Amino acid sequence: HRTAVRLAEHKRRLEMMSTRDGMTGVFNRRHWEMLLRNEFEHCRRDHSTATILLIDIDHFKNINDTWGHDVGDEAIIAITRQLQRSVRSGDAIGRFGGDEFVLCIQNRDQEGVQAQLDKLVRSMCQTFTYGGCSVPLSISLGAVYMTEKVPYEKLFKEADSVLYEVKTRGKNSFEVR
Ligand code: GH3
Ligand code: MG
Repeated sequence: HRTAVRLAEHKRRLEMMSTRDGMTGVFNRRHWEMLLRNEFEHCRRDHSTATILLIDIDHFKNINDTWGHDVGDEAIIAITRQLQRSVRSGDAIGRFGGDEFVLCIQNRDQEGVQAQLDKLVRSMCQTFTYGGCSVPLSISLGAVYMTEKVPYEKLFKEADSVLYEVKTRGKNSFEVR
């Protein structure tokens, strides 16, 4: 019996390691993309829509340069926790790399999505305090409505170019297309 319990625990830990980002605990890129493919199929079957959000921390290099890499790491974790507080529990969060996150939210109407994204960006704009440092944090967000009309492979490219435009316009903001 004890061996079975230990094996189950081992299996659970292996599963965590292969699906989660070690630093933040949210889904890693590979697993998140798999979840998205499922969601895409779901949308195709139900003729429903969802929205893909690509999020990138503003001036993150500056944070590393000014306060050090450790504070940068803690800032990434703080951003993750704020994201988790700001979205519904079913909305899967993924860390895509460095300071970039992805999220898939269930659509209400498009106006509802606009309001939700606006609220999200505002909630992420805050001063993070750590070890006597006060670090200003904000994010930029590019989003695309996921419908069966847009091929799955194109979604990220599109979200990425929307995010790029938001960054170019001045950051701490969002756009959804
Ligand atoms: P922008 O506002 O345009 O996004 O500028 P930025 O300075 O945030 O630039 P960018 O997003 O390209 O830079 C991300 C930086 O994040 C680059 C890399 O040095 C740093 N980085 C990547 N992963 C980690 C990490 O795990 N910890 C820390 N502390 N830094 C990381
Ligand atoms: Mg950045």
